[in-house]
Amino acid sequence: MIRIGIEQAKLDQLVSRHKAYFSKNLMNKRLEVHFKTAELDIPTFPSTKQDYMSKKYIRFFSYLRLKMDDILAGEPKKLQDIIDHIETNYRDLPFRSFSEIDGNVKKKAEKEKQADENKEDEGKETKQSNLFRSLTKIFNYTTFTKSGVWCAYDLALGLRLSICPYCNRQYIHSHQDETLKIRATLDHFYDKGTYPFLALSFYNLIPSCYFCNSILKHKKAFSINTHLHPYLHGFEDDIQFYVKFRGQQGAKLDYTSILRADPETFSLGFRFRKGSDLTIKKKAGHNIHDFKLKELYKVHKDYISEIIHKSVVYNDDFIQGLFRSHPRLFTSEEEISRMVLGNYIQPQSQDRRVLSKLTRDVAIQLGLAQKLVFPNYYKVLRRRK
Ligand SMILES: [Zn+2]
Repeated sequence: MIRIGIEQAKLDQLVSRHKAYFSKNLMNKRLEVHFKTAELDIPTFPSTKQDYMSKKYIRFFSYLRLKMDDILAGEPKKLQDIIDHIETNYRDLPFRSFSEIDGNVKKKAEKEKQADENKEDEGKETKQSNLFRSLTKIFNYTTFTKSGVWCAYDLALGLRLSICPYCNRQYIHSHQDETLKIRATLDHFYDKGTYPFLALSFYNLIPSCYFCNSILKHKKAFSINTHLHPYLHGFEDDIQFYVKFRGQQGAKLDYTSILRADPETFSLGFRFRKGSDLTIKKKAGHNIHDFKLKELYKVHKDYISEIIHKSVVYNDDFIQGLFRSHPRLFTSEEEISRMVLGNYIQPQSQDRRVLSKLTRDVAIQLGLAQKLVFPNYYKVLRRRK
């Protein structure tokens, strides 16, 4: 998990464009038009409750109107505040999709999937409450994914993310020209079936890979209280990949087995830095579990075994030798370390190449990237010499 490290000024610019496109005029008009559809729910309540529910629907729509700026452009904490307010005050309104209202979400999701496969979409639509249907039209994500003055393509292109922030394993470049139009999928951090009013919220749209978005996370309940939000936190150095060698205490490591990626020789896990924030650790644990990071990174054992070998072959003397032999090819020893590791491992560059976080952590553990990771420390050492 890596933080979306886009420059603040650039991010502010994109958020402003997003907010400007979904103008007050446009959204107020949508609220007004679709309130009429939502009201169709009211006769379905017991007659003794209808007047009370009618007032509640009005208050709910007034709240959405009042908070529209925060809904569209508010940072994750503001989105959480809106959810908390709605859960406290409007819990009895059927704003969630049918599958979320039903207690047995999993079973319903399976049924819906089956319905999708059977192309019974129209039937599914009629199952939803009128309020949910109205909200999906006011906060119309489907239209946003198609072309327009400002749409999902513009958002993904503007963010210029290369790597999935959730897994750091897949490229998600977006591209648009006359012949090709592709973009990263956008994950709704807060599920849009549960909170349809957050379907168009800028900070709820996370460019990510298909695996993370649609297979692993899907409709799981995420919040900033339970998981790391990629606009707020990455694992950084608080949570690190860690190579554990088996049965090697006191003995020399068998590098031949490691190179062959013998599954018995080493395993990969995570370690939490001493003294790091407990709540961050807890949330990171949920990210690791829900995105199946331990399981998925097992397939990269061959890559890790190469780093282990490099840590032996490319010691400081070797790197200095290369630097002296090729003064015109390299401008610094750090550049050689990067070439050796084949990856960007500085935290600010971790969104440029897949497996960068894994490379950094294992290289640090094995003492391979010390000069690259801690250049100031090495400058001090050089001066002391
Ligand atoms: Zn991913």
